[in-house]
Amino acid sequence: MSEQQNPIKTDSRQMLGRLRGVMAEDSAGQTRLDTITKLIAEEMHSEVCSVYLFRDEETLELCATEGLKAESVHQTRMKMGEGLVGLVARKGQRINTPDAPSERGFRFMPETGEEIYSSFLGVPIQRLGEKLGVLVVQTKDARQFAEEEVDALEVVAMVLAEMAELGAFIGEGAALSARHTQPVLVRGATGQEGAAEGHVWLHEPRVVVTNPIAEDPHREFERLREAVEELRVGVDKMLAGARGGGKEQLDVLEAYRMFANSKGWMSRMEQDIGRGLSAEAAVEKEQSTARARMQQVTDAYLRERLHDLDDLSNRLLRILTGQGLETGAEMPPDPVLIARNIGPAELLDYGRSLKAIVLEEGSVGSHAAIVARALAIPLIIHASRITTEALNGDHIMVDGDQGVAHLRPDDTVVAAFRDKIAMQAQAQERYTSIREKPATSLDGQTIALAMNAGLMADLPSLDSSGAEGVGLFRTELQFLVRNQMPRRSELSALYARVLDAAQGKRVVFRTLDIGSDKVLPYMKPNDEPNPALGWRAIRVGLDKPGIMRMQLQALLRAANGRPLTVMFPFVAQFEEYRAARVEMDKALARERALGHALPSSLEIGAMLETPSLAFAPDKFFDEVDFLSIGGNDLKQFFFAADRENERVRRRYDTLNVSFLTFLEGIVKRCNTSGTALSFCGEDAGRPVEAVCLAAIGLRSLSMRPASIGPVKSLLRRVDLGVVKALIEAAAQEGQQSVRPAVVEYLRNLN
Ligand code: PEP
Ligand code: MG
Repeated sequence: MSEQQNPIKTDSRQMLGRLRGVMAEDSAGQTRLDTITKLIAEEMHSEVCSVYLFRDEETLELCATEGLKAESVHQTRMKMGEGLVGLVARKGQRINTPDAPSERGFRFMPETGEEIYSSFLGVPIQRLGEKLGVLVVQTKDARQFAEEEVDALEVVAMVLAEMAELGAFIGEGAALSARHTQPVLVRGATGQEGAAEGHVWLHEPRVVVTNPIAEDPHREFERLREAVEELRVGVDKMLAGARGGGKEQLDVLEAYRMFANSKGWMSRMEQDIGRGLSAEAAVEKEQSTARARMQQVTDAYLRERLHDLDDLSNRLLRILTGQGLETGAEMPPDPVLIARNIGPAELLDYGRSLKAIVLEEGSVGSHAAIVARALAIPLIIHASRITTEALNGDHIMVDGDQGVAHLRPDDTVVAAFRDKIAMQAQAQERYTSIREKPATSLDGQTIALAMNAGLMADLPSLDSSGAEGVGLFRTELQFLVRNQMPRRSELSALYARVLDAAQGKRVVFRTLDIGSDKVLPYMKPNDEPNPALGWRAIRVGLDKPGIMRMQLQALLRAANGRPLTVMFPFVAQFEEYRAARVEMDKALARERALGHALPSSLEIGAMLETPSLAFAPDKFFDEVDFLSIGGNDLKQFFFAADRENERVRRRYDTLNVSFLTFLEGIVKRCNTSGTALSFCGEDAGRPVEAVCLAAIGLRSLSMRPASIGPVKSLLRRVDLGVVKALIEAAAQEGQQSVRPAVVEYLRNLN
């Protein structure tokens, strides 16, 4: 082979030096690309060099070539995964073969005249996990490119990616259009419903590398070493500060330290600097490789670690470029927050100023999602590539109902979206007009509608929504958004403010519901195989009564002579309720002994979230002051389908006849014993579901404040007797769900 007889030397520094010259020239994008392909072909001693860029998410277009037929430029296209070029793009990995036509996946493109070329080396042009294109060299010789040549081409591809990001190739044609200017439809999943329009505000502004090529590698080595040293010191400081904190946080910091001291990481970056990259470009190249791997890795632990590496690279880049989180950019008046992920405390800092939130990661049950829901801000999760696509100030429209965001939308999308928002505003007006009216159905049944809350910020909704009270106050949010356990005095002051704001309306305080999806950052997490079935809520409260006692005392003091309602979560058997009540009795006795005012009335209820409690002895139903069905948990246990698992969580309909029959059984038992019953899971806020729950006899529903209007409006237009008959008929006919029949009935309402 020619390579062994006569080794070909590729000097990547020389090649990058020439590339820099091209960058500095004031020429059009296409001219630049043409010059670059020529230059690379020369330096790589290959007959062909071609640049393929993505025209849209799925299609690559030949944008410049030295060696292939000129007329195929902007004509030849391939899909992701198609041919060797498409394969390089899909896998984000190089292909190096002396005999391309015999390679699996090879596809011959006759219009390019490539049939005479044998060897093929293709490397992805990608930046921070974003695929931009493919760089290819080909020769007639059946030549296997040496490792050193492949490295050189990868370094060049990295520089091309940076150049593309900086807009160096802008020109005619979709593939050469300016980046970050095209409309993009980003698909994700619903975290919180609602539609909003605004402008992008990046939680972590992107680091821009303006100098990917450096002349003096020694200086770059020095810069890198100094920056890594600063990083290490920073990580050690964070570690020292975090001792005694949560295990999860320590794990992350330990991983940071491991990477910051990793010889492999450092030496790969040094090698790239040796090949001509600047220190920041070398860091970014490593980061891009890690991101590409992240997209392929399914193992959760490994993914976490790759994430850690990614975060660390960001820190290093900020040190090197001096670009902090403060860019001087001003937050737009209608900010739509874009982030990879965000913690609940940070989200609360932004507060209600946000129009919407779009996260690249996140999950429905994450703390951030809980806060977004509490603040009624539309939220999209799993929005892939949003942080790389969006720029500060970009126009964006967020459709939380569909789980999609329109970034830089074109006029037709803007018009359609505004119509949707206007329709929602009209509906809102309708809801406001019935705010003071009762939710009474055509056949005269009145349903009490209360709201769910968890933050002080929720309380103003009590008035605006027309809710009769707070049917569920999730106290864990106050614990989740802090870095340490709140003190009793803080809690009691907060609960008192909640009661003040409620102005005598009933507030049902649910005691701390932690464990499962809700892990306190400052409590040692338990390694449980099935956290949803594990040590959570009242189980933790009873086994470690310290926190529960503190919370009960805080509640009693907050009431300070006013009526108080407390509810225990996740009670699975009578005994747990009794034990919790004993705790309350002790707390009352203590307060009395201390001479504090006791509540003027005290109701103590339980959440029915496990099927077992529906079959508790009659005595339980007699003793408990009230019950509230936690439909989110109850449904997951009834169907054995994890509420957090995207694969299964929508598999079973709430309007499944078996589930409704089960719920009706609970209603009947409560009616017999005279136990007050409500429903406070998310389903209570979905109008069709709410109507069915009312039809089977539930007389009290608690939901997100924004749902009260739509639910009330529908309830006032239906005949619950008719709906009940439809449910019975569906059960008799052996239907799986009553949804089709009920939706049909609702459609025909005037
Ligand atoms: C429920 O399970 O339905 C409920 C209201 O509680 P959470 O969603 O907080 O678990
Ligand atoms: Mg629950």
